[in-house]
Amino acid sequence: MSNDRNGDPAEASQPEAPERQSNFIRDTILQDIANGKHGGRVHTRFPPEPNGYLHIGHAKSICLNYGLAQEFGGKFNLRFDDTNPTKEETEYVDSIIEDVRWLGADWEDRLFYASDYFPQLYEYALLLIRKGKAYVCDLTAEQIREYRGTLTEPGTESPWRNRSVEENLDLLERMKAGEFPDGTRTLRTKADMASANLNLRDPIMYRILHAEHHRTGNTWCIYPMYDFTHGQCDSIEGITHSICTLEFEDHRPLYDWYIQELGIFAPQQLEFDRLNLTYTLLSKRKLLALVQDNHVTGWDDPRMPTLSGIRRRGYTAEAMRTFCSRIGVSKTNGMVELGLLEHAVREDLNQRALRVMAVLNPLRVVIDNYPEGRTELMECVNNPEDASAGTREVPFSKTLYIEQDDFREDPPKHFYRLSPGREVRLRYGYLVTCTSVVKNEKGEVVEVHCSYDPATRGGNTPDGRKVKSTIHWVSAEHAIEAEVRLYENLFLTEDPNDSSRGQEWTENLNPKSLEVVAHPKLEPSLKHAKAGTSYQFERLGYFCLDRDATPDKPIFNRTLGLRDSYAKIDKAKAKK
Ligand code: ATP
Ligand code: MG
Repeated sequence: MSNDRNGDPAEASQPEAPERQSNFIRDTILQDIANGKHGGRVHTRFPPEPNGYLHIGHAKSICLNYGLAQEFGGKFNLRFDDTNPTKEETEYVDSIIEDVRWLGADWEDRLFYASDYFPQLYEYALLLIRKGKAYVCDLTAEQIREYRGTLTEPGTESPWRNRSVEENLDLLERMKAGEFPDGTRTLRTKADMASANLNLRDPIMYRILHAEHHRTGNTWCIYPMYDFTHGQCDSIEGITHSICTLEFEDHRPLYDWYIQELGIFAPQQLEFDRLNLTYTLLSKRKLLALVQDNHVTGWDDPRMPTLSGIRRRGYTAEAMRTFCSRIGVSKTNGMVELGLLEHAVREDLNQRALRVMAVLNPLRVVIDNYPEGRTELMECVNNPEDASAGTREVPFSKTLYIEQDDFREDPPKHFYRLSPGREVRLRYGYLVTCTSVVKNEKGEVVEVHCSYDPATRGGNTPDGRKVKSTIHWVSAEHAIEAEVRLYENLFLTEDPNDSSRGQEWTENLNPKSLEVVAHPKLEPSLKHAKAGTSYQFERLGYFCLDRDATPDKPIFNRTLGLRDSYAKIDKAKAKK
C-alpha cells in the first residue's frame, strides 16, 4: 500500500445520506395530518422494558419515533413499560435514560412509567368487569394454556367465565388485597375463545405476584400484563402513532378491543421490522446471558451491541442516527449487513477523528547518519478533513519505532515498504533508506538501520523523486506506553443463532474477539488524550480512550480498523 492517506476508499464516492427517507409510517402520518386526524397532532414514544440495556435495535426504534415527532413538530415521550417487577431493575432504568439521551432524543418533561398508571389500569379493569367483559379465573397457568386451543382448533371456555359481576369485583378486590397466593387466580378478558387470533382468546389482564416493584414497592401484589398495559398507556398519554415492531401486529386487535370497550382515546398502531444485524446478537435475554456467564466484561463491554458498549467502543451518536436513517423501515423482517453500520461509523470518524501516530508492534529503527541527541519537532496535520483542527508537533529523533509489518528483509513482489536497499517516506519525517539489519539468535530482525536524506524534511522531496510507500513511526525516547485493545466480532457466524451444525449459540462466539496489545508505542501527544475524543492512529484505525484508562496508563479501544487495512492487503498479496 503506497498511499499516505488511508481513509475508507468508499468515502469519497458516497453521496450524502438522504436524511429523511420516505417510508410507509411517515406516509401514514403525512396522510393523517392532511386529513386532520388527531387535529394534525403527532405524538410518539419509545417504550422500553427496563429488563436490560438498550441495543442497536432499540436505536432504530428511538430514531424512528423521535425523528418523526421532530419532523412534524410533534412530541416524543420516554415511557418505561415496567410491569414485570421480577426482571426489572433501576440500573436498567438509569442506563436506558443515559442511552436515549446520548442518541439525542429529547423527551423534555415527558418521562413516564407504566407503573404511574397502575391505579388507572385497575380502574379500567373494574370498568371491564362491570361491563361483563372481564372475569376472575381460577385455572392454573397450565390449564389456561390447555384451554386455549391451537391455531387450527378453537379454545374451550373457562368454567369460571360466567361468574357474576359482583363475585368478580369481590375477587379482584381480594386479589389486590393479597388474600391469594401467586398463580392461584387471574383476571381475564371475556373476549372470544373461538377467535382465529389466539391473542383474543380471553387473554390474562392481571396476575398475582407478591413481588416488590422497583418503583411501587409493595403497594401492589397484582400486576397488569403487558398487553393490558401498553395500549392504554399510549391512550392515556395521547400517543397518536403507536409505533412498534412487527410481532405486535397480531396484538393490535386486542389493543383496539380494550380501547373500544373502555371508550378512551384511540392511538393508531403501526408496525415495522425489527433490526437484525449480521454477526450481532440483538436479544436482551441472550445479551444478559453473555454478561452473567462472563463471556464479556459487562453490558458496556466494547464488543457488546448495546448502546453503552458501542459508545465505549467509540461509535458516535451521529453515526448511529445516520445508520438508522439509511436502513429505513419495512414490513418484512430481514438482515442488515454489519458493514453498513461500520461504514456509517467510519464515515463519521473520518470527518472528526484527530490523526496521530502509534506503533502497535514496534520494530526499532536507527538512523545512522542522524545526529545523536538531536530532536526535531515535526509539524503534523491533525485532521486533513478539517483545517480547523490545526497542527501539532511530533518529535523526531535518531531512534524510532515502526510497525514490524512495515519491514520485510525479503519482500514479496508487491511489498513496497521498508526492506534492505529500499527508500520509504516516514510520514511528516524524512525519507530513509534501509542499509542493514540486526538479528537475534533466532534469526529474527530486531533492529533496522537506515540512512536519511536531510533534504527531505517533513517528508518532502524537493527533487521530485517518488517513493512508493509512506509509513508511520514514533520516536523511541519520546514514545509513551499504553495498552491497546483490539476487537473483532463477538460471533464468528453471520447469524449468531446459527445451529446448523447442531451447536449451541454460545459455541458461535469468537474466542479471539479481544486482543490486548500490551506494549504499543504512542506519540507523546496522546498523553493528553481525552475521553470521548476519536483518534485515527494513522494507517491502523480509529481509537478512543477507554474508561479504564488512568493518567499513568492510557488504554485505547480500537473502534474500527480502516477497512482496507494494510495488513490484510499484504496478507492477500503475500499468498499470490
Ligand atoms: P423484550 O420485550 O423481549 O424484553 P424487546 O427487545 O422487545 O425485548 P423492549 O424494551 O420491549 O425490548 O423494546 C422497546 C422498544 O424497542 C419496542 O417498541 C420494541 O419493539 C423496540 N425494539 C426492540 N428490539 C428492536 C429491534 N431489534 N429493532 C427495532 N426495534 C426494536
Ligand atoms: Mg418488548
